[in-house]
This record gives sequence, C-alpha cells and structure tokens, in this order.
Amino acid sequence: MTFLPDQWTPQSDALAGKTILITGAGDGIGKAAALTFARHGAEVLLLGRTEAKLDAVYDTIVAEGGVEPGIIPTDLAQVGHDHLIALAGELATSIHKLDGLLHNASLLGDRKPLAQTSAALWHQVMQVNVNSAFMLTQALLPMLEQAPLASVVFTSSGVGRKGRAFWGGYAVSKFATEGLMQVLADELGEISNIRVNSLNPGAINTAMRRTAYPAEPPTTNPDPETLMHHWLFLMSDDSKGINGQALSAQS
Ligand code: NDP
Repeated sequence: MTFLPDQWTPQSDALAGKTILITGAGDGIGKAAALTFARHGAEVLLLGRTEAKLDAVYDTIVAEGGVEPGIIPTDLAQVGHDHLIALAGELATSIHKLDGLLHNASLLGDRKPLAQTSAALWHQVMQVNVNSAFMLTQALLPMLEQAPLASVVFTSSGVGRKGRAFWGGYAVSKFATEGLMQVLADELGEISNIRVNSLNPGAINTAMRRTAYPAEPPTTNPDPETLMHHWLFLMSDDSKGINGQALSAQS
C-alpha cells in the first residue's frame, strides 16, 4: 500500500532551495535519487566510496542544468566519529543548513546461515549500514536543525521488518536501522522541525539486487527511476507531519 497521497504529483521545483545529502549516491537507488532531487531543484551532496561514479552523477546534473552538486568521496566502512564531525565542520563552512539526509548506502554482506557468517564481515555490514548512519546523523544534526523543515530517510528492507534465513548481518542491520529511525523520530518529533522515517524500496533492479538474486532476470524488477516519486515526496515539504513511519515504495 503506497503512502503517497492520491493523485500526488510533484511540482517541478519541489526541492528548490533545499540541500540534500545522499549516501551511496554513485549507483543504484542512491544515484537515481540524487538525479531526481537535482531535477527538482535541490543542491545535492553526493557521498560514496567510488569517486568516478560520483563524478559521473555530478557531470549528468551539471549537463542537465541542475544546481552544481557537492562530492564527498567517503568509504563508510572506514569512517569514525572524528572523521564525520570533521566532515560536518567542513560542510558548515559552505552550507548553513541541511534540508534532507538520505541514508541509502548499504553493504549486502554474505548470504549464508548465521552459523557460517564471518564475524569480520558482520562487523563491516554493521559499520556501513548502521554505525556510520548513526554517526553521520549525529554529526549533521546541528545543520538539519537549521532547516525550516528537514527530512531524514533511512533505507530499510523487507528483511529488516521480518527476518529471513540466510540474510545474516544485512537483515539484522536493517532491523537496527528501523530502531535507529524510531528512536530518533521519537526524540525529535516534538522538539524540532526534523521528521525521520524509513523507506523499504522493495525489489529494484540494481547491482545489489542482481548480486542477491543471480538467477533472477534483471527485467523482473522495476528500475530505480520508476519509483523515485516516493523518495521525492519524502524529501518535499508535502510530507511534513509524517514522522516515525516505516514506509514502503512497493506493496
Ligand atoms: P547498490 O549496491 O546498487 O548501491 C549501493 C550504493 O552504496 C553504491 O553506490 C555503493 O558504492 C554504496 N556503498 C556501498 N558501500 C559503501 C561504503 N562502504 N561507503 C560508501 N558507499 C558505499 O544498492 P541499491 O541501490 O540496490 O541499494 C540502495 C539501498 O536500498 C540499500 O540500503 C539497500 O539495502 C536498499 N534496498 C535495496 C533493494 C533492491 O532491491 N535493490 C531492496 C531493499 C532495500 P559503490 O558504487 O562504490 O559500490
């Protein structure tokens, strides 16, 4: 069941004047979100680990006449609290507010029984999918608080809402993501202009999906671009008042 209001269509300038940071912006859903937000007027800050992919997204946005994006090459597997506080400090010298934060980057990890799951990979999945999202949110909160209306979106998964065999650390990390979203939404809902929600994209044709389901024909699932109105709605002021919700882009 979609959470979009009936007949919702975005204004072409729905995100004009907004600055939105997207993690994992170089590929898949994050890339589609960055392009979509820029096409609706946002200044996007592209965070990801492969600089060449971020550069390609940057080039597309500039070629399309969008607001010049920022590029933040960062491997979330390697970052700690101090690094992210320094990053937020650097950002604060050029932007005074952050209107949106899309936590999208994730690591799939091993598709194995827990009995065979490597502890090292488990920690890496938790670091990228949960720990870095917590630390980045904390570092950016002062800038989110400066926005008249800010939206934080965590990316969930079906296996983060109902556990499934062989999804290991990834599934557990997505449950933790839901918890992080709920606690933050409850803390901020009454005292700030920041709304916090999670979004389960559903099956989408990306590199991660193709890795998780190698036998599945890629055309089985929609391309990320076809579902972007959900992400756009959550970043636009039209979703004001929606807070603490576990949402899904597909039924
Ligand atoms: P992709 O693997 O296609 O893209 C993930 C992006 O995250 C890539 O740009 C990748 O960078 C980046 N990333 C991964 N690890 C790191 C890291 N350590 N530091 C910085 N960036 C990193 O995945 P999707 O687009 O499919 O997934 C996006 C989100 O949607 C994820 O949170 C995923 O869990 C969720 N999701 C996806 C579904 C699907 O069917 N596709 C279903 C349910 C949830 P690089 O390009 O350099 O590898």
